[in-house]
Amino acid sequence: MMARFSGVRQPHFGATPCACRPRAGARWVPCVAGRKDGVSLDSLVPQTLEEMEGDAELQAVLKSIEEEGQAALTKREQRGRQRSLEKLNMPNFSKACADAGVTPLKRGAAKILQLNIGLYCNQACTHCHVESSPKRTEMMSFEVANRCLELLDDAPSVATLDLTGGAPELNPTFRHLVEGARARGREVIDRCNLTVLEEPGQEDLADFLAALRVRVVASLPCYSQKNVDLQRGSGVFERSVRGLQKLNAVGYGVPGTGLTLDLVYNPGGPFLAPPQESLEGAYRTELREAFGVEFSSLLALNNMPIKRYYDWLERRGGLEEYMGLLLEGFNPGAAEGLMCRDTVSVGWDGRVYDCDFNQQLEMTLAGGSGESGLTVFDLGSLGELEGRGILVDNHCFGCTAGSGSGCQGATE
Ligand code: SF4
Ligand code: SF4
Repeated sequence: MMARFSGVRQPHFGATPCACRPRAGARWVPCVAGRKDGVSLDSLVPQTLEEMEGDAELQAVLKSIEEEGQAALTKREQRGRQRSLEKLNMPNFSKACADAGVTPLKRGAAKILQLNIGLYCNQACTHCHVESSPKRTEMMSFEVANRCLELLDDAPSVATLDLTGGAPELNPTFRHLVEGARARGREVIDRCNLTVLEEPGQEDLADFLAALRVRVVASLPCYSQKNVDLQRGSGVFERSVRGLQKLNAVGYGVPGTGLTLDLVYNPGGPFLAPPQESLEGAYRTELREAFGVEFSSLLALNNMPIKRYYDWLERRGGLEEYMGLLLEGFNPGAAEGLMCRDTVSVGWDGRVYDCDFNQQLEMTLAGGSGESGLTVFDLGSLGELEGRGILVDNHCFGCTAGSGSGCQGATE
């Protein structure tokens, strides 16, 4: 039997990022802008769990994690990427940067503190690099969250607290962290999957975000229902559009309000993200005309060949081709703006990393009192990280291909 993962939610391969345009008379998405607060729609979680159960590929991955352990699978992935690079006869990432005259890969003063506050998510997307789903239970504690806020006190160079997950809003520390960082005068980013706005208990989320003037960075990998649902689960597009409408209704993305709503595009198949500017116009026109949705800017990211996306590529024999694409697209200019130069990444358990990708690959920074690497409790201040060499490996080619790719969009 064809797996649902393959048959229903398979990322599409195609020459262009999105050939599908919403048709005239496309499926109607009811606007919630006029609804009173307190109206709660059904949670997406039961549907996500049902799709996960029927997804033979995902079940196989979960079984491997259970039997072999995450660390063993992470090593296997690393070897797989390395084999592909060797077949392509290409140097490793550090050498590629050095040969191209890229500024040494060392940490500068931190400008962004990014916290992955938990892996629980109401979705289970095919490309998810953190392997989130409603089955994940890892969550940041208040002890770790408070330590991160303390570190902000002594970090004047850090202008932004960037909250990610999973679905960060579903973590008990989310609003505490938002309030704490805003009280300290920092910008806060909420990496929002949009469907969370319809989860029970989140009826006031849009108002909360607007009141605290949080910048919302929302995932929407395409402006067509078909492509979004393939990548993120059936019904996700409809819910996402309703989420956008809800955010627009409180002022997000509306010129003059100062409330920023950025959208994130990532390719639906093994190709690089096109230039942000060219895609942004198409998104704006399509979302405005079909759904009356407004947004601030579009960020275009590449898919990293790790975790679920690695599995997906490998099962289809597409890993080598994709690594080849990343190598071909290696852009020294993009390497200058790598996010790991000025972002500190902290995991739900307080461990410290150079970036969220390294976090998922367990590339913890050395040092600290425990055996599992440096934690926020080992650091006197974030300034202690300045000047450290960045831990890089073969997945890093995902950040330097094309226009470059990082959590803030293109890096060139
Ligand atoms: S990609 Fe984002 S929305 Fe999708 S499962 Fe992962 S964390 Fe959740
Ligand atoms: S994966 Fe992380 S460490 Fe590697 S280049 Fe990208 S941001 Fe830097």
